[in-house]
Amino acid sequence: MGNRDLGSLAGRWVVETLYEEKGFICAFRADEVHYEEATGQQHLVIFDNALFGRMMTLDGITQVTQRDEFIYHEMLTHVPILAHGRAKRVLIIGGGDGGILREVTRHKSVEHVTMVEIDPSVTEFCRKQLPQISAGAFDDPRVDLIFADGAKFVEETDKSFDVIIVDSTDPVGPGEVLFSEPFYRAARARLAPGGVIVTQNGVPFMQGDELQGTMEKFRKLFKVATCYLATIPTYVGGPMALGWGTDDPSLTEVPLEELKARFNAAGLSMRYYTPEVHKAAFALPRYVLDLLEA
Ligand code: SAM
Repeated sequence: MGNRDLGSLAGRWVVETLYEEKGFICAFRADEVHYEEATGQQHLVIFDNALFGRMMTLDGITQVTQRDEFIYHEMLTHVPILAHGRAKRVLIIGGGDGGILREVTRHKSVEHVTMVEIDPSVTEFCRKQLPQISAGAFDDPRVDLIFADGAKFVEETDKSFDVIIVDSTDPVGPGEVLFSEPFYRAARARLAPGGVIVTQNGVPFMQGDELQGTMEKFRKLFKVATCYLATIPTYVGGPMALGWGTDDPSLTEVPLEELKARFNAAGLSMRYYTPEVHKAAFALPRYVLDLLEA
């Protein structure tokens, strides 16, 4: 396939610009655009693509696609909740599309979920245009949905949580503060004893500095600072790192048999997560270990 500018391709192409400065872009043909708006916080596009189904980009960066969202949402949710084993109060920072909220509320053992999303437009349009992602979770009586900056929320709240899930955009625009030390420090202060924080931490092969930056801060704050991996096709460049910070080392070493027992007790059907995949996700390749240890 020779040089082709996107203009020669039929239809509108939504270009993923996350790595443009590094000389890499990829594009999704938009067979139908359902919504496009500069929300005041971000530039939001929701459109249909033949391969990945309905999808959303924010500021030119892929956020969620109908076809592969289950991988990311299952792994960012069930790994911390099943490792914790007794999670009753969960905090979600970001997560506007409702995918994490859907997975958290599948756990009947979870008694309360606080979700803090900075951009009401994301939630409003995803509820309308991508309803299968949240699958009704926004109406769960256990959910407290707050539209605010997650960094401010953790500074100001006096609540504590067993699991904190940071489902943020990349460190651009409003998401940048969610990769800062003050945010991580304030979030740590909101963790109940034995709690764990997990973070969307980019694709280390493409964004190694993002993971390195978080781990440097986590090492100052937590007894255990590491990550685990999951491969989501539309987060291009190999496995994505999900940051992991806790003061309870036992959460990272739950025996497989115990994980299986918790998984069976939760009674949840999955499309990606298994207890074996949970354990294996923490086995990191050398280039990721080097980023953690840098
Ligand atoms: N799965 C996606 C990924 O890996 O990039 C993230 C999806 S979710 C749509 C990201 C959410 O973070 C967006 O809804 C965005 O509005 C929200 N967000 C960004 N900065 C935020 C902040 N400071 N406080 C709360 N939510 C924020």
